[in-house]
Amino acid sequence: MQPNNKQQVGITIKDLTLAFGETEVLKGVNLEIEPGEFFAFLGPSGSGKSTLLRAIAGFGPEPQGQILLGDEDIKALPPWRRNVGMVFQSYALWPHMTVRQNVAYGLEERKVPTSEIRERVDNALNLVGLYHLAERRPSQLSGGQQQRVAIARTVVVEPRVLLLDEPLSNLDANLREQMRRDLLELQRQLGLTTIFVTHDQEEANTISDRIAVLDQGVIQQVGKPMELYDNPSNKFVADFLGTAN
Ligand code: ADP
Ligand code: MG
Repeated sequence: MQPNNKQQVGITIKDLTLAFGETEVLKGVNLEIEPGEFFAFLGPSGSGKSTLLRAIAGFGPEPQGQILLGDEDIKALPPWRRNVGMVFQSYALWPHMTVRQNVAYGLEERKVPTSEIRERVDNALNLVGLYHLAERRPSQLSGGQQQRVAIARTVVVEPRVLLLDEPLSNLDANLREQMRRDLLELQRQLGLTTIFVTHDQEEANTISDRIAVLDQGVIQQVGKPMELYDNPSNKFVADFLGTAN
């Protein structure tokens, strides 16, 4: 898995509105994410972060508005052609399979030739530092190692976009910090357009190129971490980031 700039794709979201029944959860979201960018959705619980991420992955109720990957509307792309990889907070590995088998699974489903599977799985495991644990089962790994397997399993299929929904929130503080650094390094290595969802402003600040702050289904502000901190556009952003303004 080498960085492949040809695969880098930006994401454009235009007037996105999404409701569960009567309840509007996303209310006119507009956003432009650059190819190769490490982008964060930051906001309190219930602000719509997961719903927005899932909409980009093509899950959940059909939204109004548009989501473009590069210049392709995802509505026109069948799910298997969207090539969007998502890592969840609960990483749900197959307990009866080894680490290697867990990571290989998606490639087998895609009917990738066996010799190529071996090589790609080895690469992915090396990337997350787990090559030496390839024959273990998930129950024999720590939480952080299991989350690394989940990340390897997602990047091995070479997605165009990587979506991470609070992937570190089940880990203890020390491990979270270590994984943050590892994740950032991995992202830089792969050059993958990445969206990282978190409710933790420090986590968003240390990891991302730019942040969108969400509250109640509305993007309150978009900017680089320092821009938001120095120049919050409203009281919500100021309070949420804990700035002096
Ligand atoms: P976040 O990830 O920021 O915590 P979510 O996107 O999960 O927020 O949820 C945003 C809002 O949408 C919440 O009010 C939540 O209750 C509601 N919601 C999320 N999923 C569903 C669902 N499947 N059905 C109904 N309401 C939902
Ligand atoms: Mg969520």
